[in-house]
Amino acid sequence: MPNIAVLGSTGSIGRMTLEVVASLGAPYRIVALAAGKQATLLARQAAETGARAVATFDERTAKELRQALPQGVAPEILVGPAGLEALASRGDVDIVLSAIVGGAGLPAALAAVRAGKRLALANKESLVMAGDLVMGEAARFGAEVIPVDSEHSAIFQSLAGGKRSEVRRVLLTASGGPFYRRPAGELAAVTPQEALNHPTWSMGPKITIDSATLMNKSLEVIEAHHLFGLTADQIHVIIHPESTVHSLVEFVDGSCIAQLGPPNMRTPIQYALTYPERRPAPWPRLDLALLGRLHFEEPDVRKFPALELGFEVVRRGGTLGAALSGADETAVAAFLEGQIRFTDMVPLVKRVLDAHRWVAKPTLDEILTADTWAREEAKRCKPSCTSLKS
Ligand code: NAD
Ligand code: MG
Repeated sequence: MPNIAVLGSTGSIGRMTLEVVASLGAPYRIVALAAGKQATLLARQAAETGARAVATFDERTAKELRQALPQGVAPEILVGPAGLEALASRGDVDIVLSAIVGGAGLPAALAAVRAGKRLALANKESLVMAGDLVMGEAARFGAEVIPVDSEHSAIFQSLAGGKRSEVRRVLLTASGGPFYRRPAGELAAVTPQEALNHPTWSMGPKITIDSATLMNKSLEVIEAHHLFGLTADQIHVIIHPESTVHSLVEFVDGSCIAQLGPPNMRTPIQYALTYPERRPAPWPRLDLALLGRLHFEEPDVRKFPALELGFEVVRRGGTLGAALSGADETAVAAFLEGQIRFTDMVPLVKRVLDAHRWVAKPTLDEILTADTWAREEAKRCKPSCTSLKS
């Protein structure tokens, strides 16, 4: 019974998920929604989907939601992090699609796997922070974790081409973002407006900035490590500006199996919902002749030093991922608010990681503490970036 809860329903992935479920039709249906503060959109989504329960970030948004709901639409309303966890573990939910942005998604992801749900996961930060814990609990409670991130959906699909023991490595593709060809000396002057303009994907602000620094690819290296049990040496990043080959698996005999498609997140969203089946989809299809050429090249790690951090986190593990996630969220927010420059973000994150007192086998509390510490440390280090800026 595909009853779906969409966490982060008002965001980029959340809104596409509602489109995908509407296009799939019965028996797929939305039974629960959760989002941050967009009460008006949440009210409209509740009315359109007939969701039985809606969770909001805070009491104020819940109040606005009650006022915005049309007459006759009366879902159960839950509030705050506890509401989000309750929603993710409801008895009438089979699939939890988590499209919350940032570390705020971790408790709900854990609640979903502990309740044995299928977790269709876009919220990569929950694996970056606590991949061992989330995947361990999923195994313990018999929950599936199906990736929504396009590269990981591609790897998941390509892995069907052989046995796990026959995998040599995966090639994780990266568009390179809007500044890949820009001279390094010009990156300091990049404005938030420019950085929010991604060449191939239309996404929420945090992942768009992470894609411009290539920090997003580092987060995805960590995500691939946890989802597929790959070592750092088995993950290779390759620049592919057309975002058409979504990733590849190279097997021991030299065969590479890839998944291709237009850059459209609706495809991996739908696959995570219908897996192991495939359903027809109405979105535009790949026209290889029209594309003509596809390009690939080795990444420029000197120009985009964020790329190294994901591999370091995979090698060391422990609380380092939580520190990376917390510091990165703080750095991205500071850049978007005009407090630091584009080129200050990655050095700021690095400084936080260098100062982090790492715990090798952390509990959830230690992971959350590392995340909070990293946010505070990034805020404390930020003034030195501001002085560079002025
Ligand atoms: P977004 O900013 O567009 O949407 C985020 C959603 O999370 C919103 O609905 C917001 O209200 C909700 N939210 C934020 N904080 C919350 C909180 N504390 N409690 C409840 N809800 C909260 O982001 P997005 O681009 O849709 O990305 C969502 C996640 O999916 C991210 O982890 C991102 O890395 C991942 N992802 C996105 C894309 C994409 O194309 N947008 C692709 C791959 C992976
Ligand atoms: Mg991705």
